[in-house]
Amino acid sequence: MYIRLSGRGLFSLLSAAVLLVFIMFFLSCGSVQDQTSNNENDSIGENQKRNVILIIIDTLRADHLSCYGYFRNTSPSIDSLAASGTLWQNAYAQSPWTLPSHATIWTGLSVRSHGTVGFFRLENDEGIRNYALDPSLPSLPVLFGQAGYRTCGIVNVTLLRDEYNFDIGFDHYSCNLAGHGQAGASVDSLISWVVSDSINLKPFFCILHLYDVHTPYNPPDDFDLMFTEYGSMGITAWFDEETGNWDPGKSDHLLKLYDGEIAWVDYNLGRLFEWLRNDSLAENTLVVITSDHGEEFLDHGGIDHGHTLYQELIHIPLIMSGPGIEPGVVSPIPVGQYDILPTLLAWAGIENMPMVDGSDILSGDISYSRSIPGSGVCPRSWDSFAPHQASVVTGSIKTIILGELESFITYDLVDDPIETRPQETDSMHMEKVLFYWASPQLGLPEPVFPDYESLDVLRDLGYIK
Ligand SMILES: [Zn+2]
Repeated sequence: MYIRLSGRGLFSLLSAAVLLVFIMFFLSCGSVQDQTSNNENDSIGENQKRNVILIIIDTLRADHLSCYGYFRNTSPSIDSLAASGTLWQNAYAQSPWTLPSHATIWTGLSVRSHGTVGFFRLENDEGIRNYALDPSLPSLPVLFGQAGYRTCGIVNVTLLRDEYNFDIGFDHYSCNLAGHGQAGASVDSLISWVVSDSINLKPFFCILHLYDVHTPYNPPDDFDLMFTEYGSMGITAWFDEETGNWDPGKSDHLLKLYDGEIAWVDYNLGRLFEWLRNDSLAENTLVVITSDHGEEFLDHGGIDHGHTLYQELIHIPLIMSGPGIEPGVVSPIPVGQYDILPTLLAWAGIENMPMVDGSDILSGDISYSRSIPGSGVCPRSWDSFAPHQASVVTGSIKTIILGELESFITYDLVDDPIETRPQETDSMHMEKVLFYWASPQLGLPEPVFPDYESLDVLRDLGYIK
């Protein structure tokens, strides 16, 4: 059910939310300076010599992993990792597409806070812009590096290249602009870096970003036949290259290939996990698996990602396994991508905790009734503007604000996990979304004009038309 506020009612709610947010912001400013002034005191203690590997599987929706209840056996390796650690059932991407979500993972900030969004068109300008990550914001590689870790990033999409500042803080950073199909090579690169870097006798922090599950759905040999006896038959994307049209009848075929891509990624992660065990690194290494967003297969009438905040695009996996992580735990606590940074810093014993929006979800102090916000929706074509959308999940209740920030829609995700039966939105949930939407932007990101090579890649990937 949509609820449309009158202009005066909306203004009152929004004004109250803005006032409260700014009061909290100014009260918190002192703590930013206090916490960031301790950089030089960071060092690795004897109990902190443990490694971290953060694996981000682009475009992976949680409900297509066996350990999240999927009916196909897509993920035996990830399932076994989950059994040896903790799996969060209700983990949320805080944007439905790549650039804002990765900025949230890097910084521990909500999309409204870091401001790294796109694609937008400047007035009277022929080009498009994305925003880069504000390099002055705290980030995982910088903070782990300052704490004495060796840092390595292996990523596979142009939106994470150095122009966007995602490379800052890494000792080693490699970005394959169009890294589809590179899961095997990327795992090999990570292993090679760890082996070659071991002479440094320092713990390592690695981010491994894999892009294989993203379109085109074109799994390599054997994996293309894993869930369909016919293979791809040359049909690996929704759009017909000649006509530009797309056919809803392809959905089941493309879903089976999407699942084959997941199985291919899972196979290569299994190789990585086995290597960690054989080299006795597993007992000293925290492995984290998550995604930047999901993928739609007509769940709400659309395809691909970036365009809504429904579950198929923001319900993502989050799994942690390693020393200090309780095995066999399935947690119902709602968590977001912004929780990853504070959780990893706390796990590693790094005391230089910056001001972030997320929390340490291993602390035991997290409430089921906490609220996880989302926004950063992408325009459907590069000559249009991104629609205003924001969401908040509180426990099982999810409220989305749509249109010109005046239409609310609410679902109970326990009774209605696929969001087909909207219910009435009460004022408390309206205020939660408006409160988030009015939150101050901490980052001051600079616009980036993608070069022509990147534009071609983005066009091939369907991000721009
Ligand atoms: Zn992505």
